[in-house]
Amino acid sequence: MKAEIIAVGTELLLGQVVNTNATYLSEELAGLGYEVYYQTVVGDNPGRLKTLLELADTRSELVILCGGLGPTDDDITRDILAEHLNEALVMDQKALDYVVSYISKSGRPMTPNNKRQALTISNGQVLENPVGLAIGTFYQAENTAYMVLPGPPRELKGMFEESAKPVLKELLPQKMKLTSRVLRFYGIGESRLVTELAELITTQTNPTLAPYAKTNEVTLRLTAKTETDEEALLLLNKMEEKIQEKVGTYFYGYGETNSLQNELVNVLKKEGKTLSSVECLTSGLFQSTISTIPGSDLVSKGGVIFPSLNQLVVSLPNVSSQNKSNDYLDEQLLTLVAENCCQMFETDYAIAIAGITDNCQSESYDVGEVAIALTDRTGKQEVMRYNFGGNKASIQYQAVLKGMDLIRRRLLSK
Ligand code: ATP
Repeated sequence: MKAEIIAVGTELLLGQVVNTNATYLSEELAGLGYEVYYQTVVGDNPGRLKTLLELADTRSELVILCGGLGPTDDDITRDILAEHLNEALVMDQKALDYVVSYISKSGRPMTPNNKRQALTISNGQVLENPVGLAIGTFYQAENTAYMVLPGPPRELKGMFEESAKPVLKELLPQKMKLTSRVLRFYGIGESRLVTELAELITTQTNPTLAPYAKTNEVTLRLTAKTETDEEALLLLNKMEEKIQEKVGTYFYGYGETNSLQNELVNVLKKEGKTLSSVECLTSGLFQSTISTIPGSDLVSKGGVIFPSLNQLVVSLPNVSSQNKSNDYLDEQLLTLVAENCCQMFETDYAIAIAGITDNCQSESYDVGEVAIALTDRTGKQEVMRYNFGGNKASIQYQAVLKGMDLIRRRLLSK
């Protein structure tokens, strides 16, 4: 069934508010098996909303409107839809009782426009609002069904989940539904990933594959269209297997909101291992990035920060002034400080990061050159060299990600 989302609100057109409702609804509708072909934003303007509704009638079987259900005069959605459908607006007594009791409890005087939030469209079905005052409406016209939902995302989600979804499932059930799986890759760019998977991408229709380039990583969304969850699982597993064969070395985890730091903390927790760090380039960014993940305090025992490796001040147990070096990327010294950090914090792993930014007065190295030393409790050491582009913040962040990936890989290779 072809579906369309219309978000109403001038603030969306002005760029003051991001249209997160459309993203949420698109994902939910896809999951229920509807094909969302259009998303539109229209201001609080009766004429333009009317025109849009006329257009939606010609191309969609389900139209979901969100926003503009509030008490004020610029909240026009319900009124314009009723006009479009040639229906009257009617007061829903249950919703009105709730508005009256809510306002009286809050100690505010009831104003006539408060009652507007209890209006619904005649011959429609009320969608209750579990988190706010304004009710929504479902209305089945001859060829098109309409749904009106509130604008505030919390109210929209609450109403969709509790009131709208059950109505859609009951009255407009879809045989085929979409199931998505997101694979995340680090260390490979979008163009290389697409090249490696070119054959799969061009030949596959179910599941479909959609790559997205994100900051310093790439995600791949696999979407299967099936009648049952079992079929979806089978198709997605089969496709994932082919993908992992080709680019599996860069794969680090699943999910829309996952991250490298999340995976690292989870692997460390699972293995019962700990880490510490010496940051001569990243000014604490490594530790602070990890600290955003719940449970990070169980695995990250602390770290030391120096402005750069050649400004190393001797505060680590077995590093003395004799070890001082003028080399910004002295690999021997970097390994030594990593080892010392491992001992000092008594951790299973320690990482030391050094690099060149435009603050460094270096003739030997270019800006963006980075060295990362990784050591573990058993004394196994490695030092890796990289060249990162971008400004200082970008070089620092890339170094942090690379460091996290090195530890994660060391853990998984055991
Ligand atoms: P209210 O009863 O609060 O007036 P409403 O249903 O009339 O709600 P709007 O007035 O259109 O909704 O929007 C209220 C607020 O909800 C907006 O200021 C904005 O912060 C948020 N909002 C509205 N539409 C969207 C959207 N499409 N995506 C994200 N946020 C939105």
